[in-house]
Amino acid sequence: MEEKTFQLNDIVEMKKPHPCGNNRWKIIRMGMDIRIKCLGCAHSVLLPRKEFVKKIKKVFPAGENS
Ligand SMILES: [Zn+2]
Repeated sequence: MEEKTFQLNDIVEMKKPHPCGNNRWKIIRMGMDIRIKCLGCAHSVLLPRKEFVKKIKKVFPAGENS
């Protein structure tokens, strides 16, 4: 199984795009649960860590602009 690493302020791409059409989210809170904010519409959601890990497709570490 692939282990994904991520940290606060990282940008993540989800498997399913948000209804607003955006597919990138920023990690704005870390803990038992992860809070991410949609970069398209600024909507934020709280996901249990396990579920979050299952839903992310790609992580763009903060500070890397590619
Ligand atoms: Zn959105």
